[in-house]
Amino acid sequence: MKKGQQYDFIFAGAGAATLQVVERLVQMEHFANVSILILEQDANKNNDRTWCFWEDKNKTKWAPHIIKEWEYVNFNSTSFSLHKTIRPLAYKMMRSDSYYTAVKALIEQNGNITISYEAVTSFDEYQGGVTVNTAENSYRARLFFNSIFDWNIVQQQKRYPVLQQHFLGWFIKTDQPTFDENTATFMDFTIAQKGNTRFMYVLPLSPTEALVEYTLFSKKRLQHAAYERELRAYLTEKNIRGVTIKETEKGSIPMTCYPFAKHNSKHVLHIGSAGGWTKPSTGFTFAFIEQKSAALVDFLKTNNDMRLFEKRTRFWWYDLVFLDVLARHNDKGSFLFGRMFEHNTPATIFSFLEEKSTFGEELQIMRSFPMGLFIRQIFRRLLGAFH
Ligand SMILES: Cc1cc2nc3c(=O)[nH]c(=O)nc-3n(C[C@H](O)[C@H](O)[C@H](O)COP(=O)(O)OP(=O)(O)OC[C@H]3O[C@@H](n4cnc5c(N)ncnc54)[C@H](O)[C@@H]3O)c2cc1C
Repeated sequence: MKKGQQYDFIFAGAGAATLQVVERLVQMEHFANVSILILEQDANKNNDRTWCFWEDKNKTKWAPHIIKEWEYVNFNSTSFSLHKTIRPLAYKMMRSDSYYTAVKALIEQNGNITISYEAVTSFDEYQGGVTVNTAENSYRARLFFNSIFDWNIVQQQKRYPVLQQHFLGWFIKTDQPTFDENTATFMDFTIAQKGNTRFMYVLPLSPTEALVEYTLFSKKRLQHAAYERELRAYLTEKNIRGVTIKETEKGSIPMTCYPFAKHNSKHVLHIGSAGGWTKPSTGFTFAFIEQKSAALVDFLKTNNDMRLFEKRTRFWWYDLVFLDVLARHNDKGSFLFGRMFEHNTPATIFSFLEEKSTFGEELQIMRSFPMGLFIRQIFRRLLGAFH
């Protein structure tokens, strides 16, 4: 038992958030002498995530890992369709294995960082730091960064609605050229909604290959067979034939305004989805991890009381009202996203969803929605009838 072995920083989980923060720490002279321990339960992580996000087309940070990017997007609902460029942005796709491998190589060259494959079971804060426990060992750190997401925390409360972005994706190959490889279908709402918000992503990698993902924003996951049934029906409906399924991807991403930051303390910071770095109204997380990890390493240079890191912005309030409406009227997602795409350019919408829009653009986007629905929901929340 390595009882009490001491580090400056301990990270629980070696996913996107930990690796992005650690990568930045390694690159900064300021942290050259900081000792870091990463505790990860899964020694065989590989392509467990396909990360899609939009950013400036010319940005190169992720270039070594990007497998495809699109400058055109489709949006479809039963009443409205759009095919438009998103320049100067591009919608990009990367697979996680490439990134995990690159950061692990960086870590191996750095004598101050250790990865240990063991599951964190608990942690306790004491006056000068944190004790982190695994089944076999117990370690101590000045600062502890926890990226382990706990569904129980959000499911056991009633104040903030909790939806999930849950999905099954198939990487398919067709025996005939079928896809326009320059266009990503960002949301196709022309499928049966069945009382929820349901759509398809179609992300072509070539004329004969695509990731087709059946996605819901709703409270409860489906049986595995239900996702498969809908995927099959969609391929038939779109006349996509001669299909071989090469790989599958399944997941569930939390969508909630639950204030994760209240679990932070002087020496403990929750990061990634566990820290509320997932955009509540869309489930997009990867680009927010990039923004937050940059802010975090700057913060760590100047201040070590981790309670001071998170700041609530106006976007949290927008997300709260939107999620309140979507949780209460879960069948209205197609209509709401349709209105947004009908009345605004994709570039404005993407900048809004990325929390980089101006107040004027935000007002314009709000005007796309039926005000009565939102105002009623704001009153409900003010009166304490949450959802
Ligand atoms: C399949 C999938 C696809 C996604 N695609 C996108 C996308 O396209 N775009 C986007 O913006 N977001 C996407 N997301 C959401 C988000 O970007 C990812 O979930 C991202 O990986 C979150 O990073 P994280 O570090 O918070 O969590 P994770 O990457 O999940 O990392 C947490 C780590 O903690 C480890 N762990 C868990 N419990 C323990 C324990 N007890 N002890 C030690 N280690 C533990 C896990 O093994 C994991 O490695 C996707 C999510 C999933 C699940």
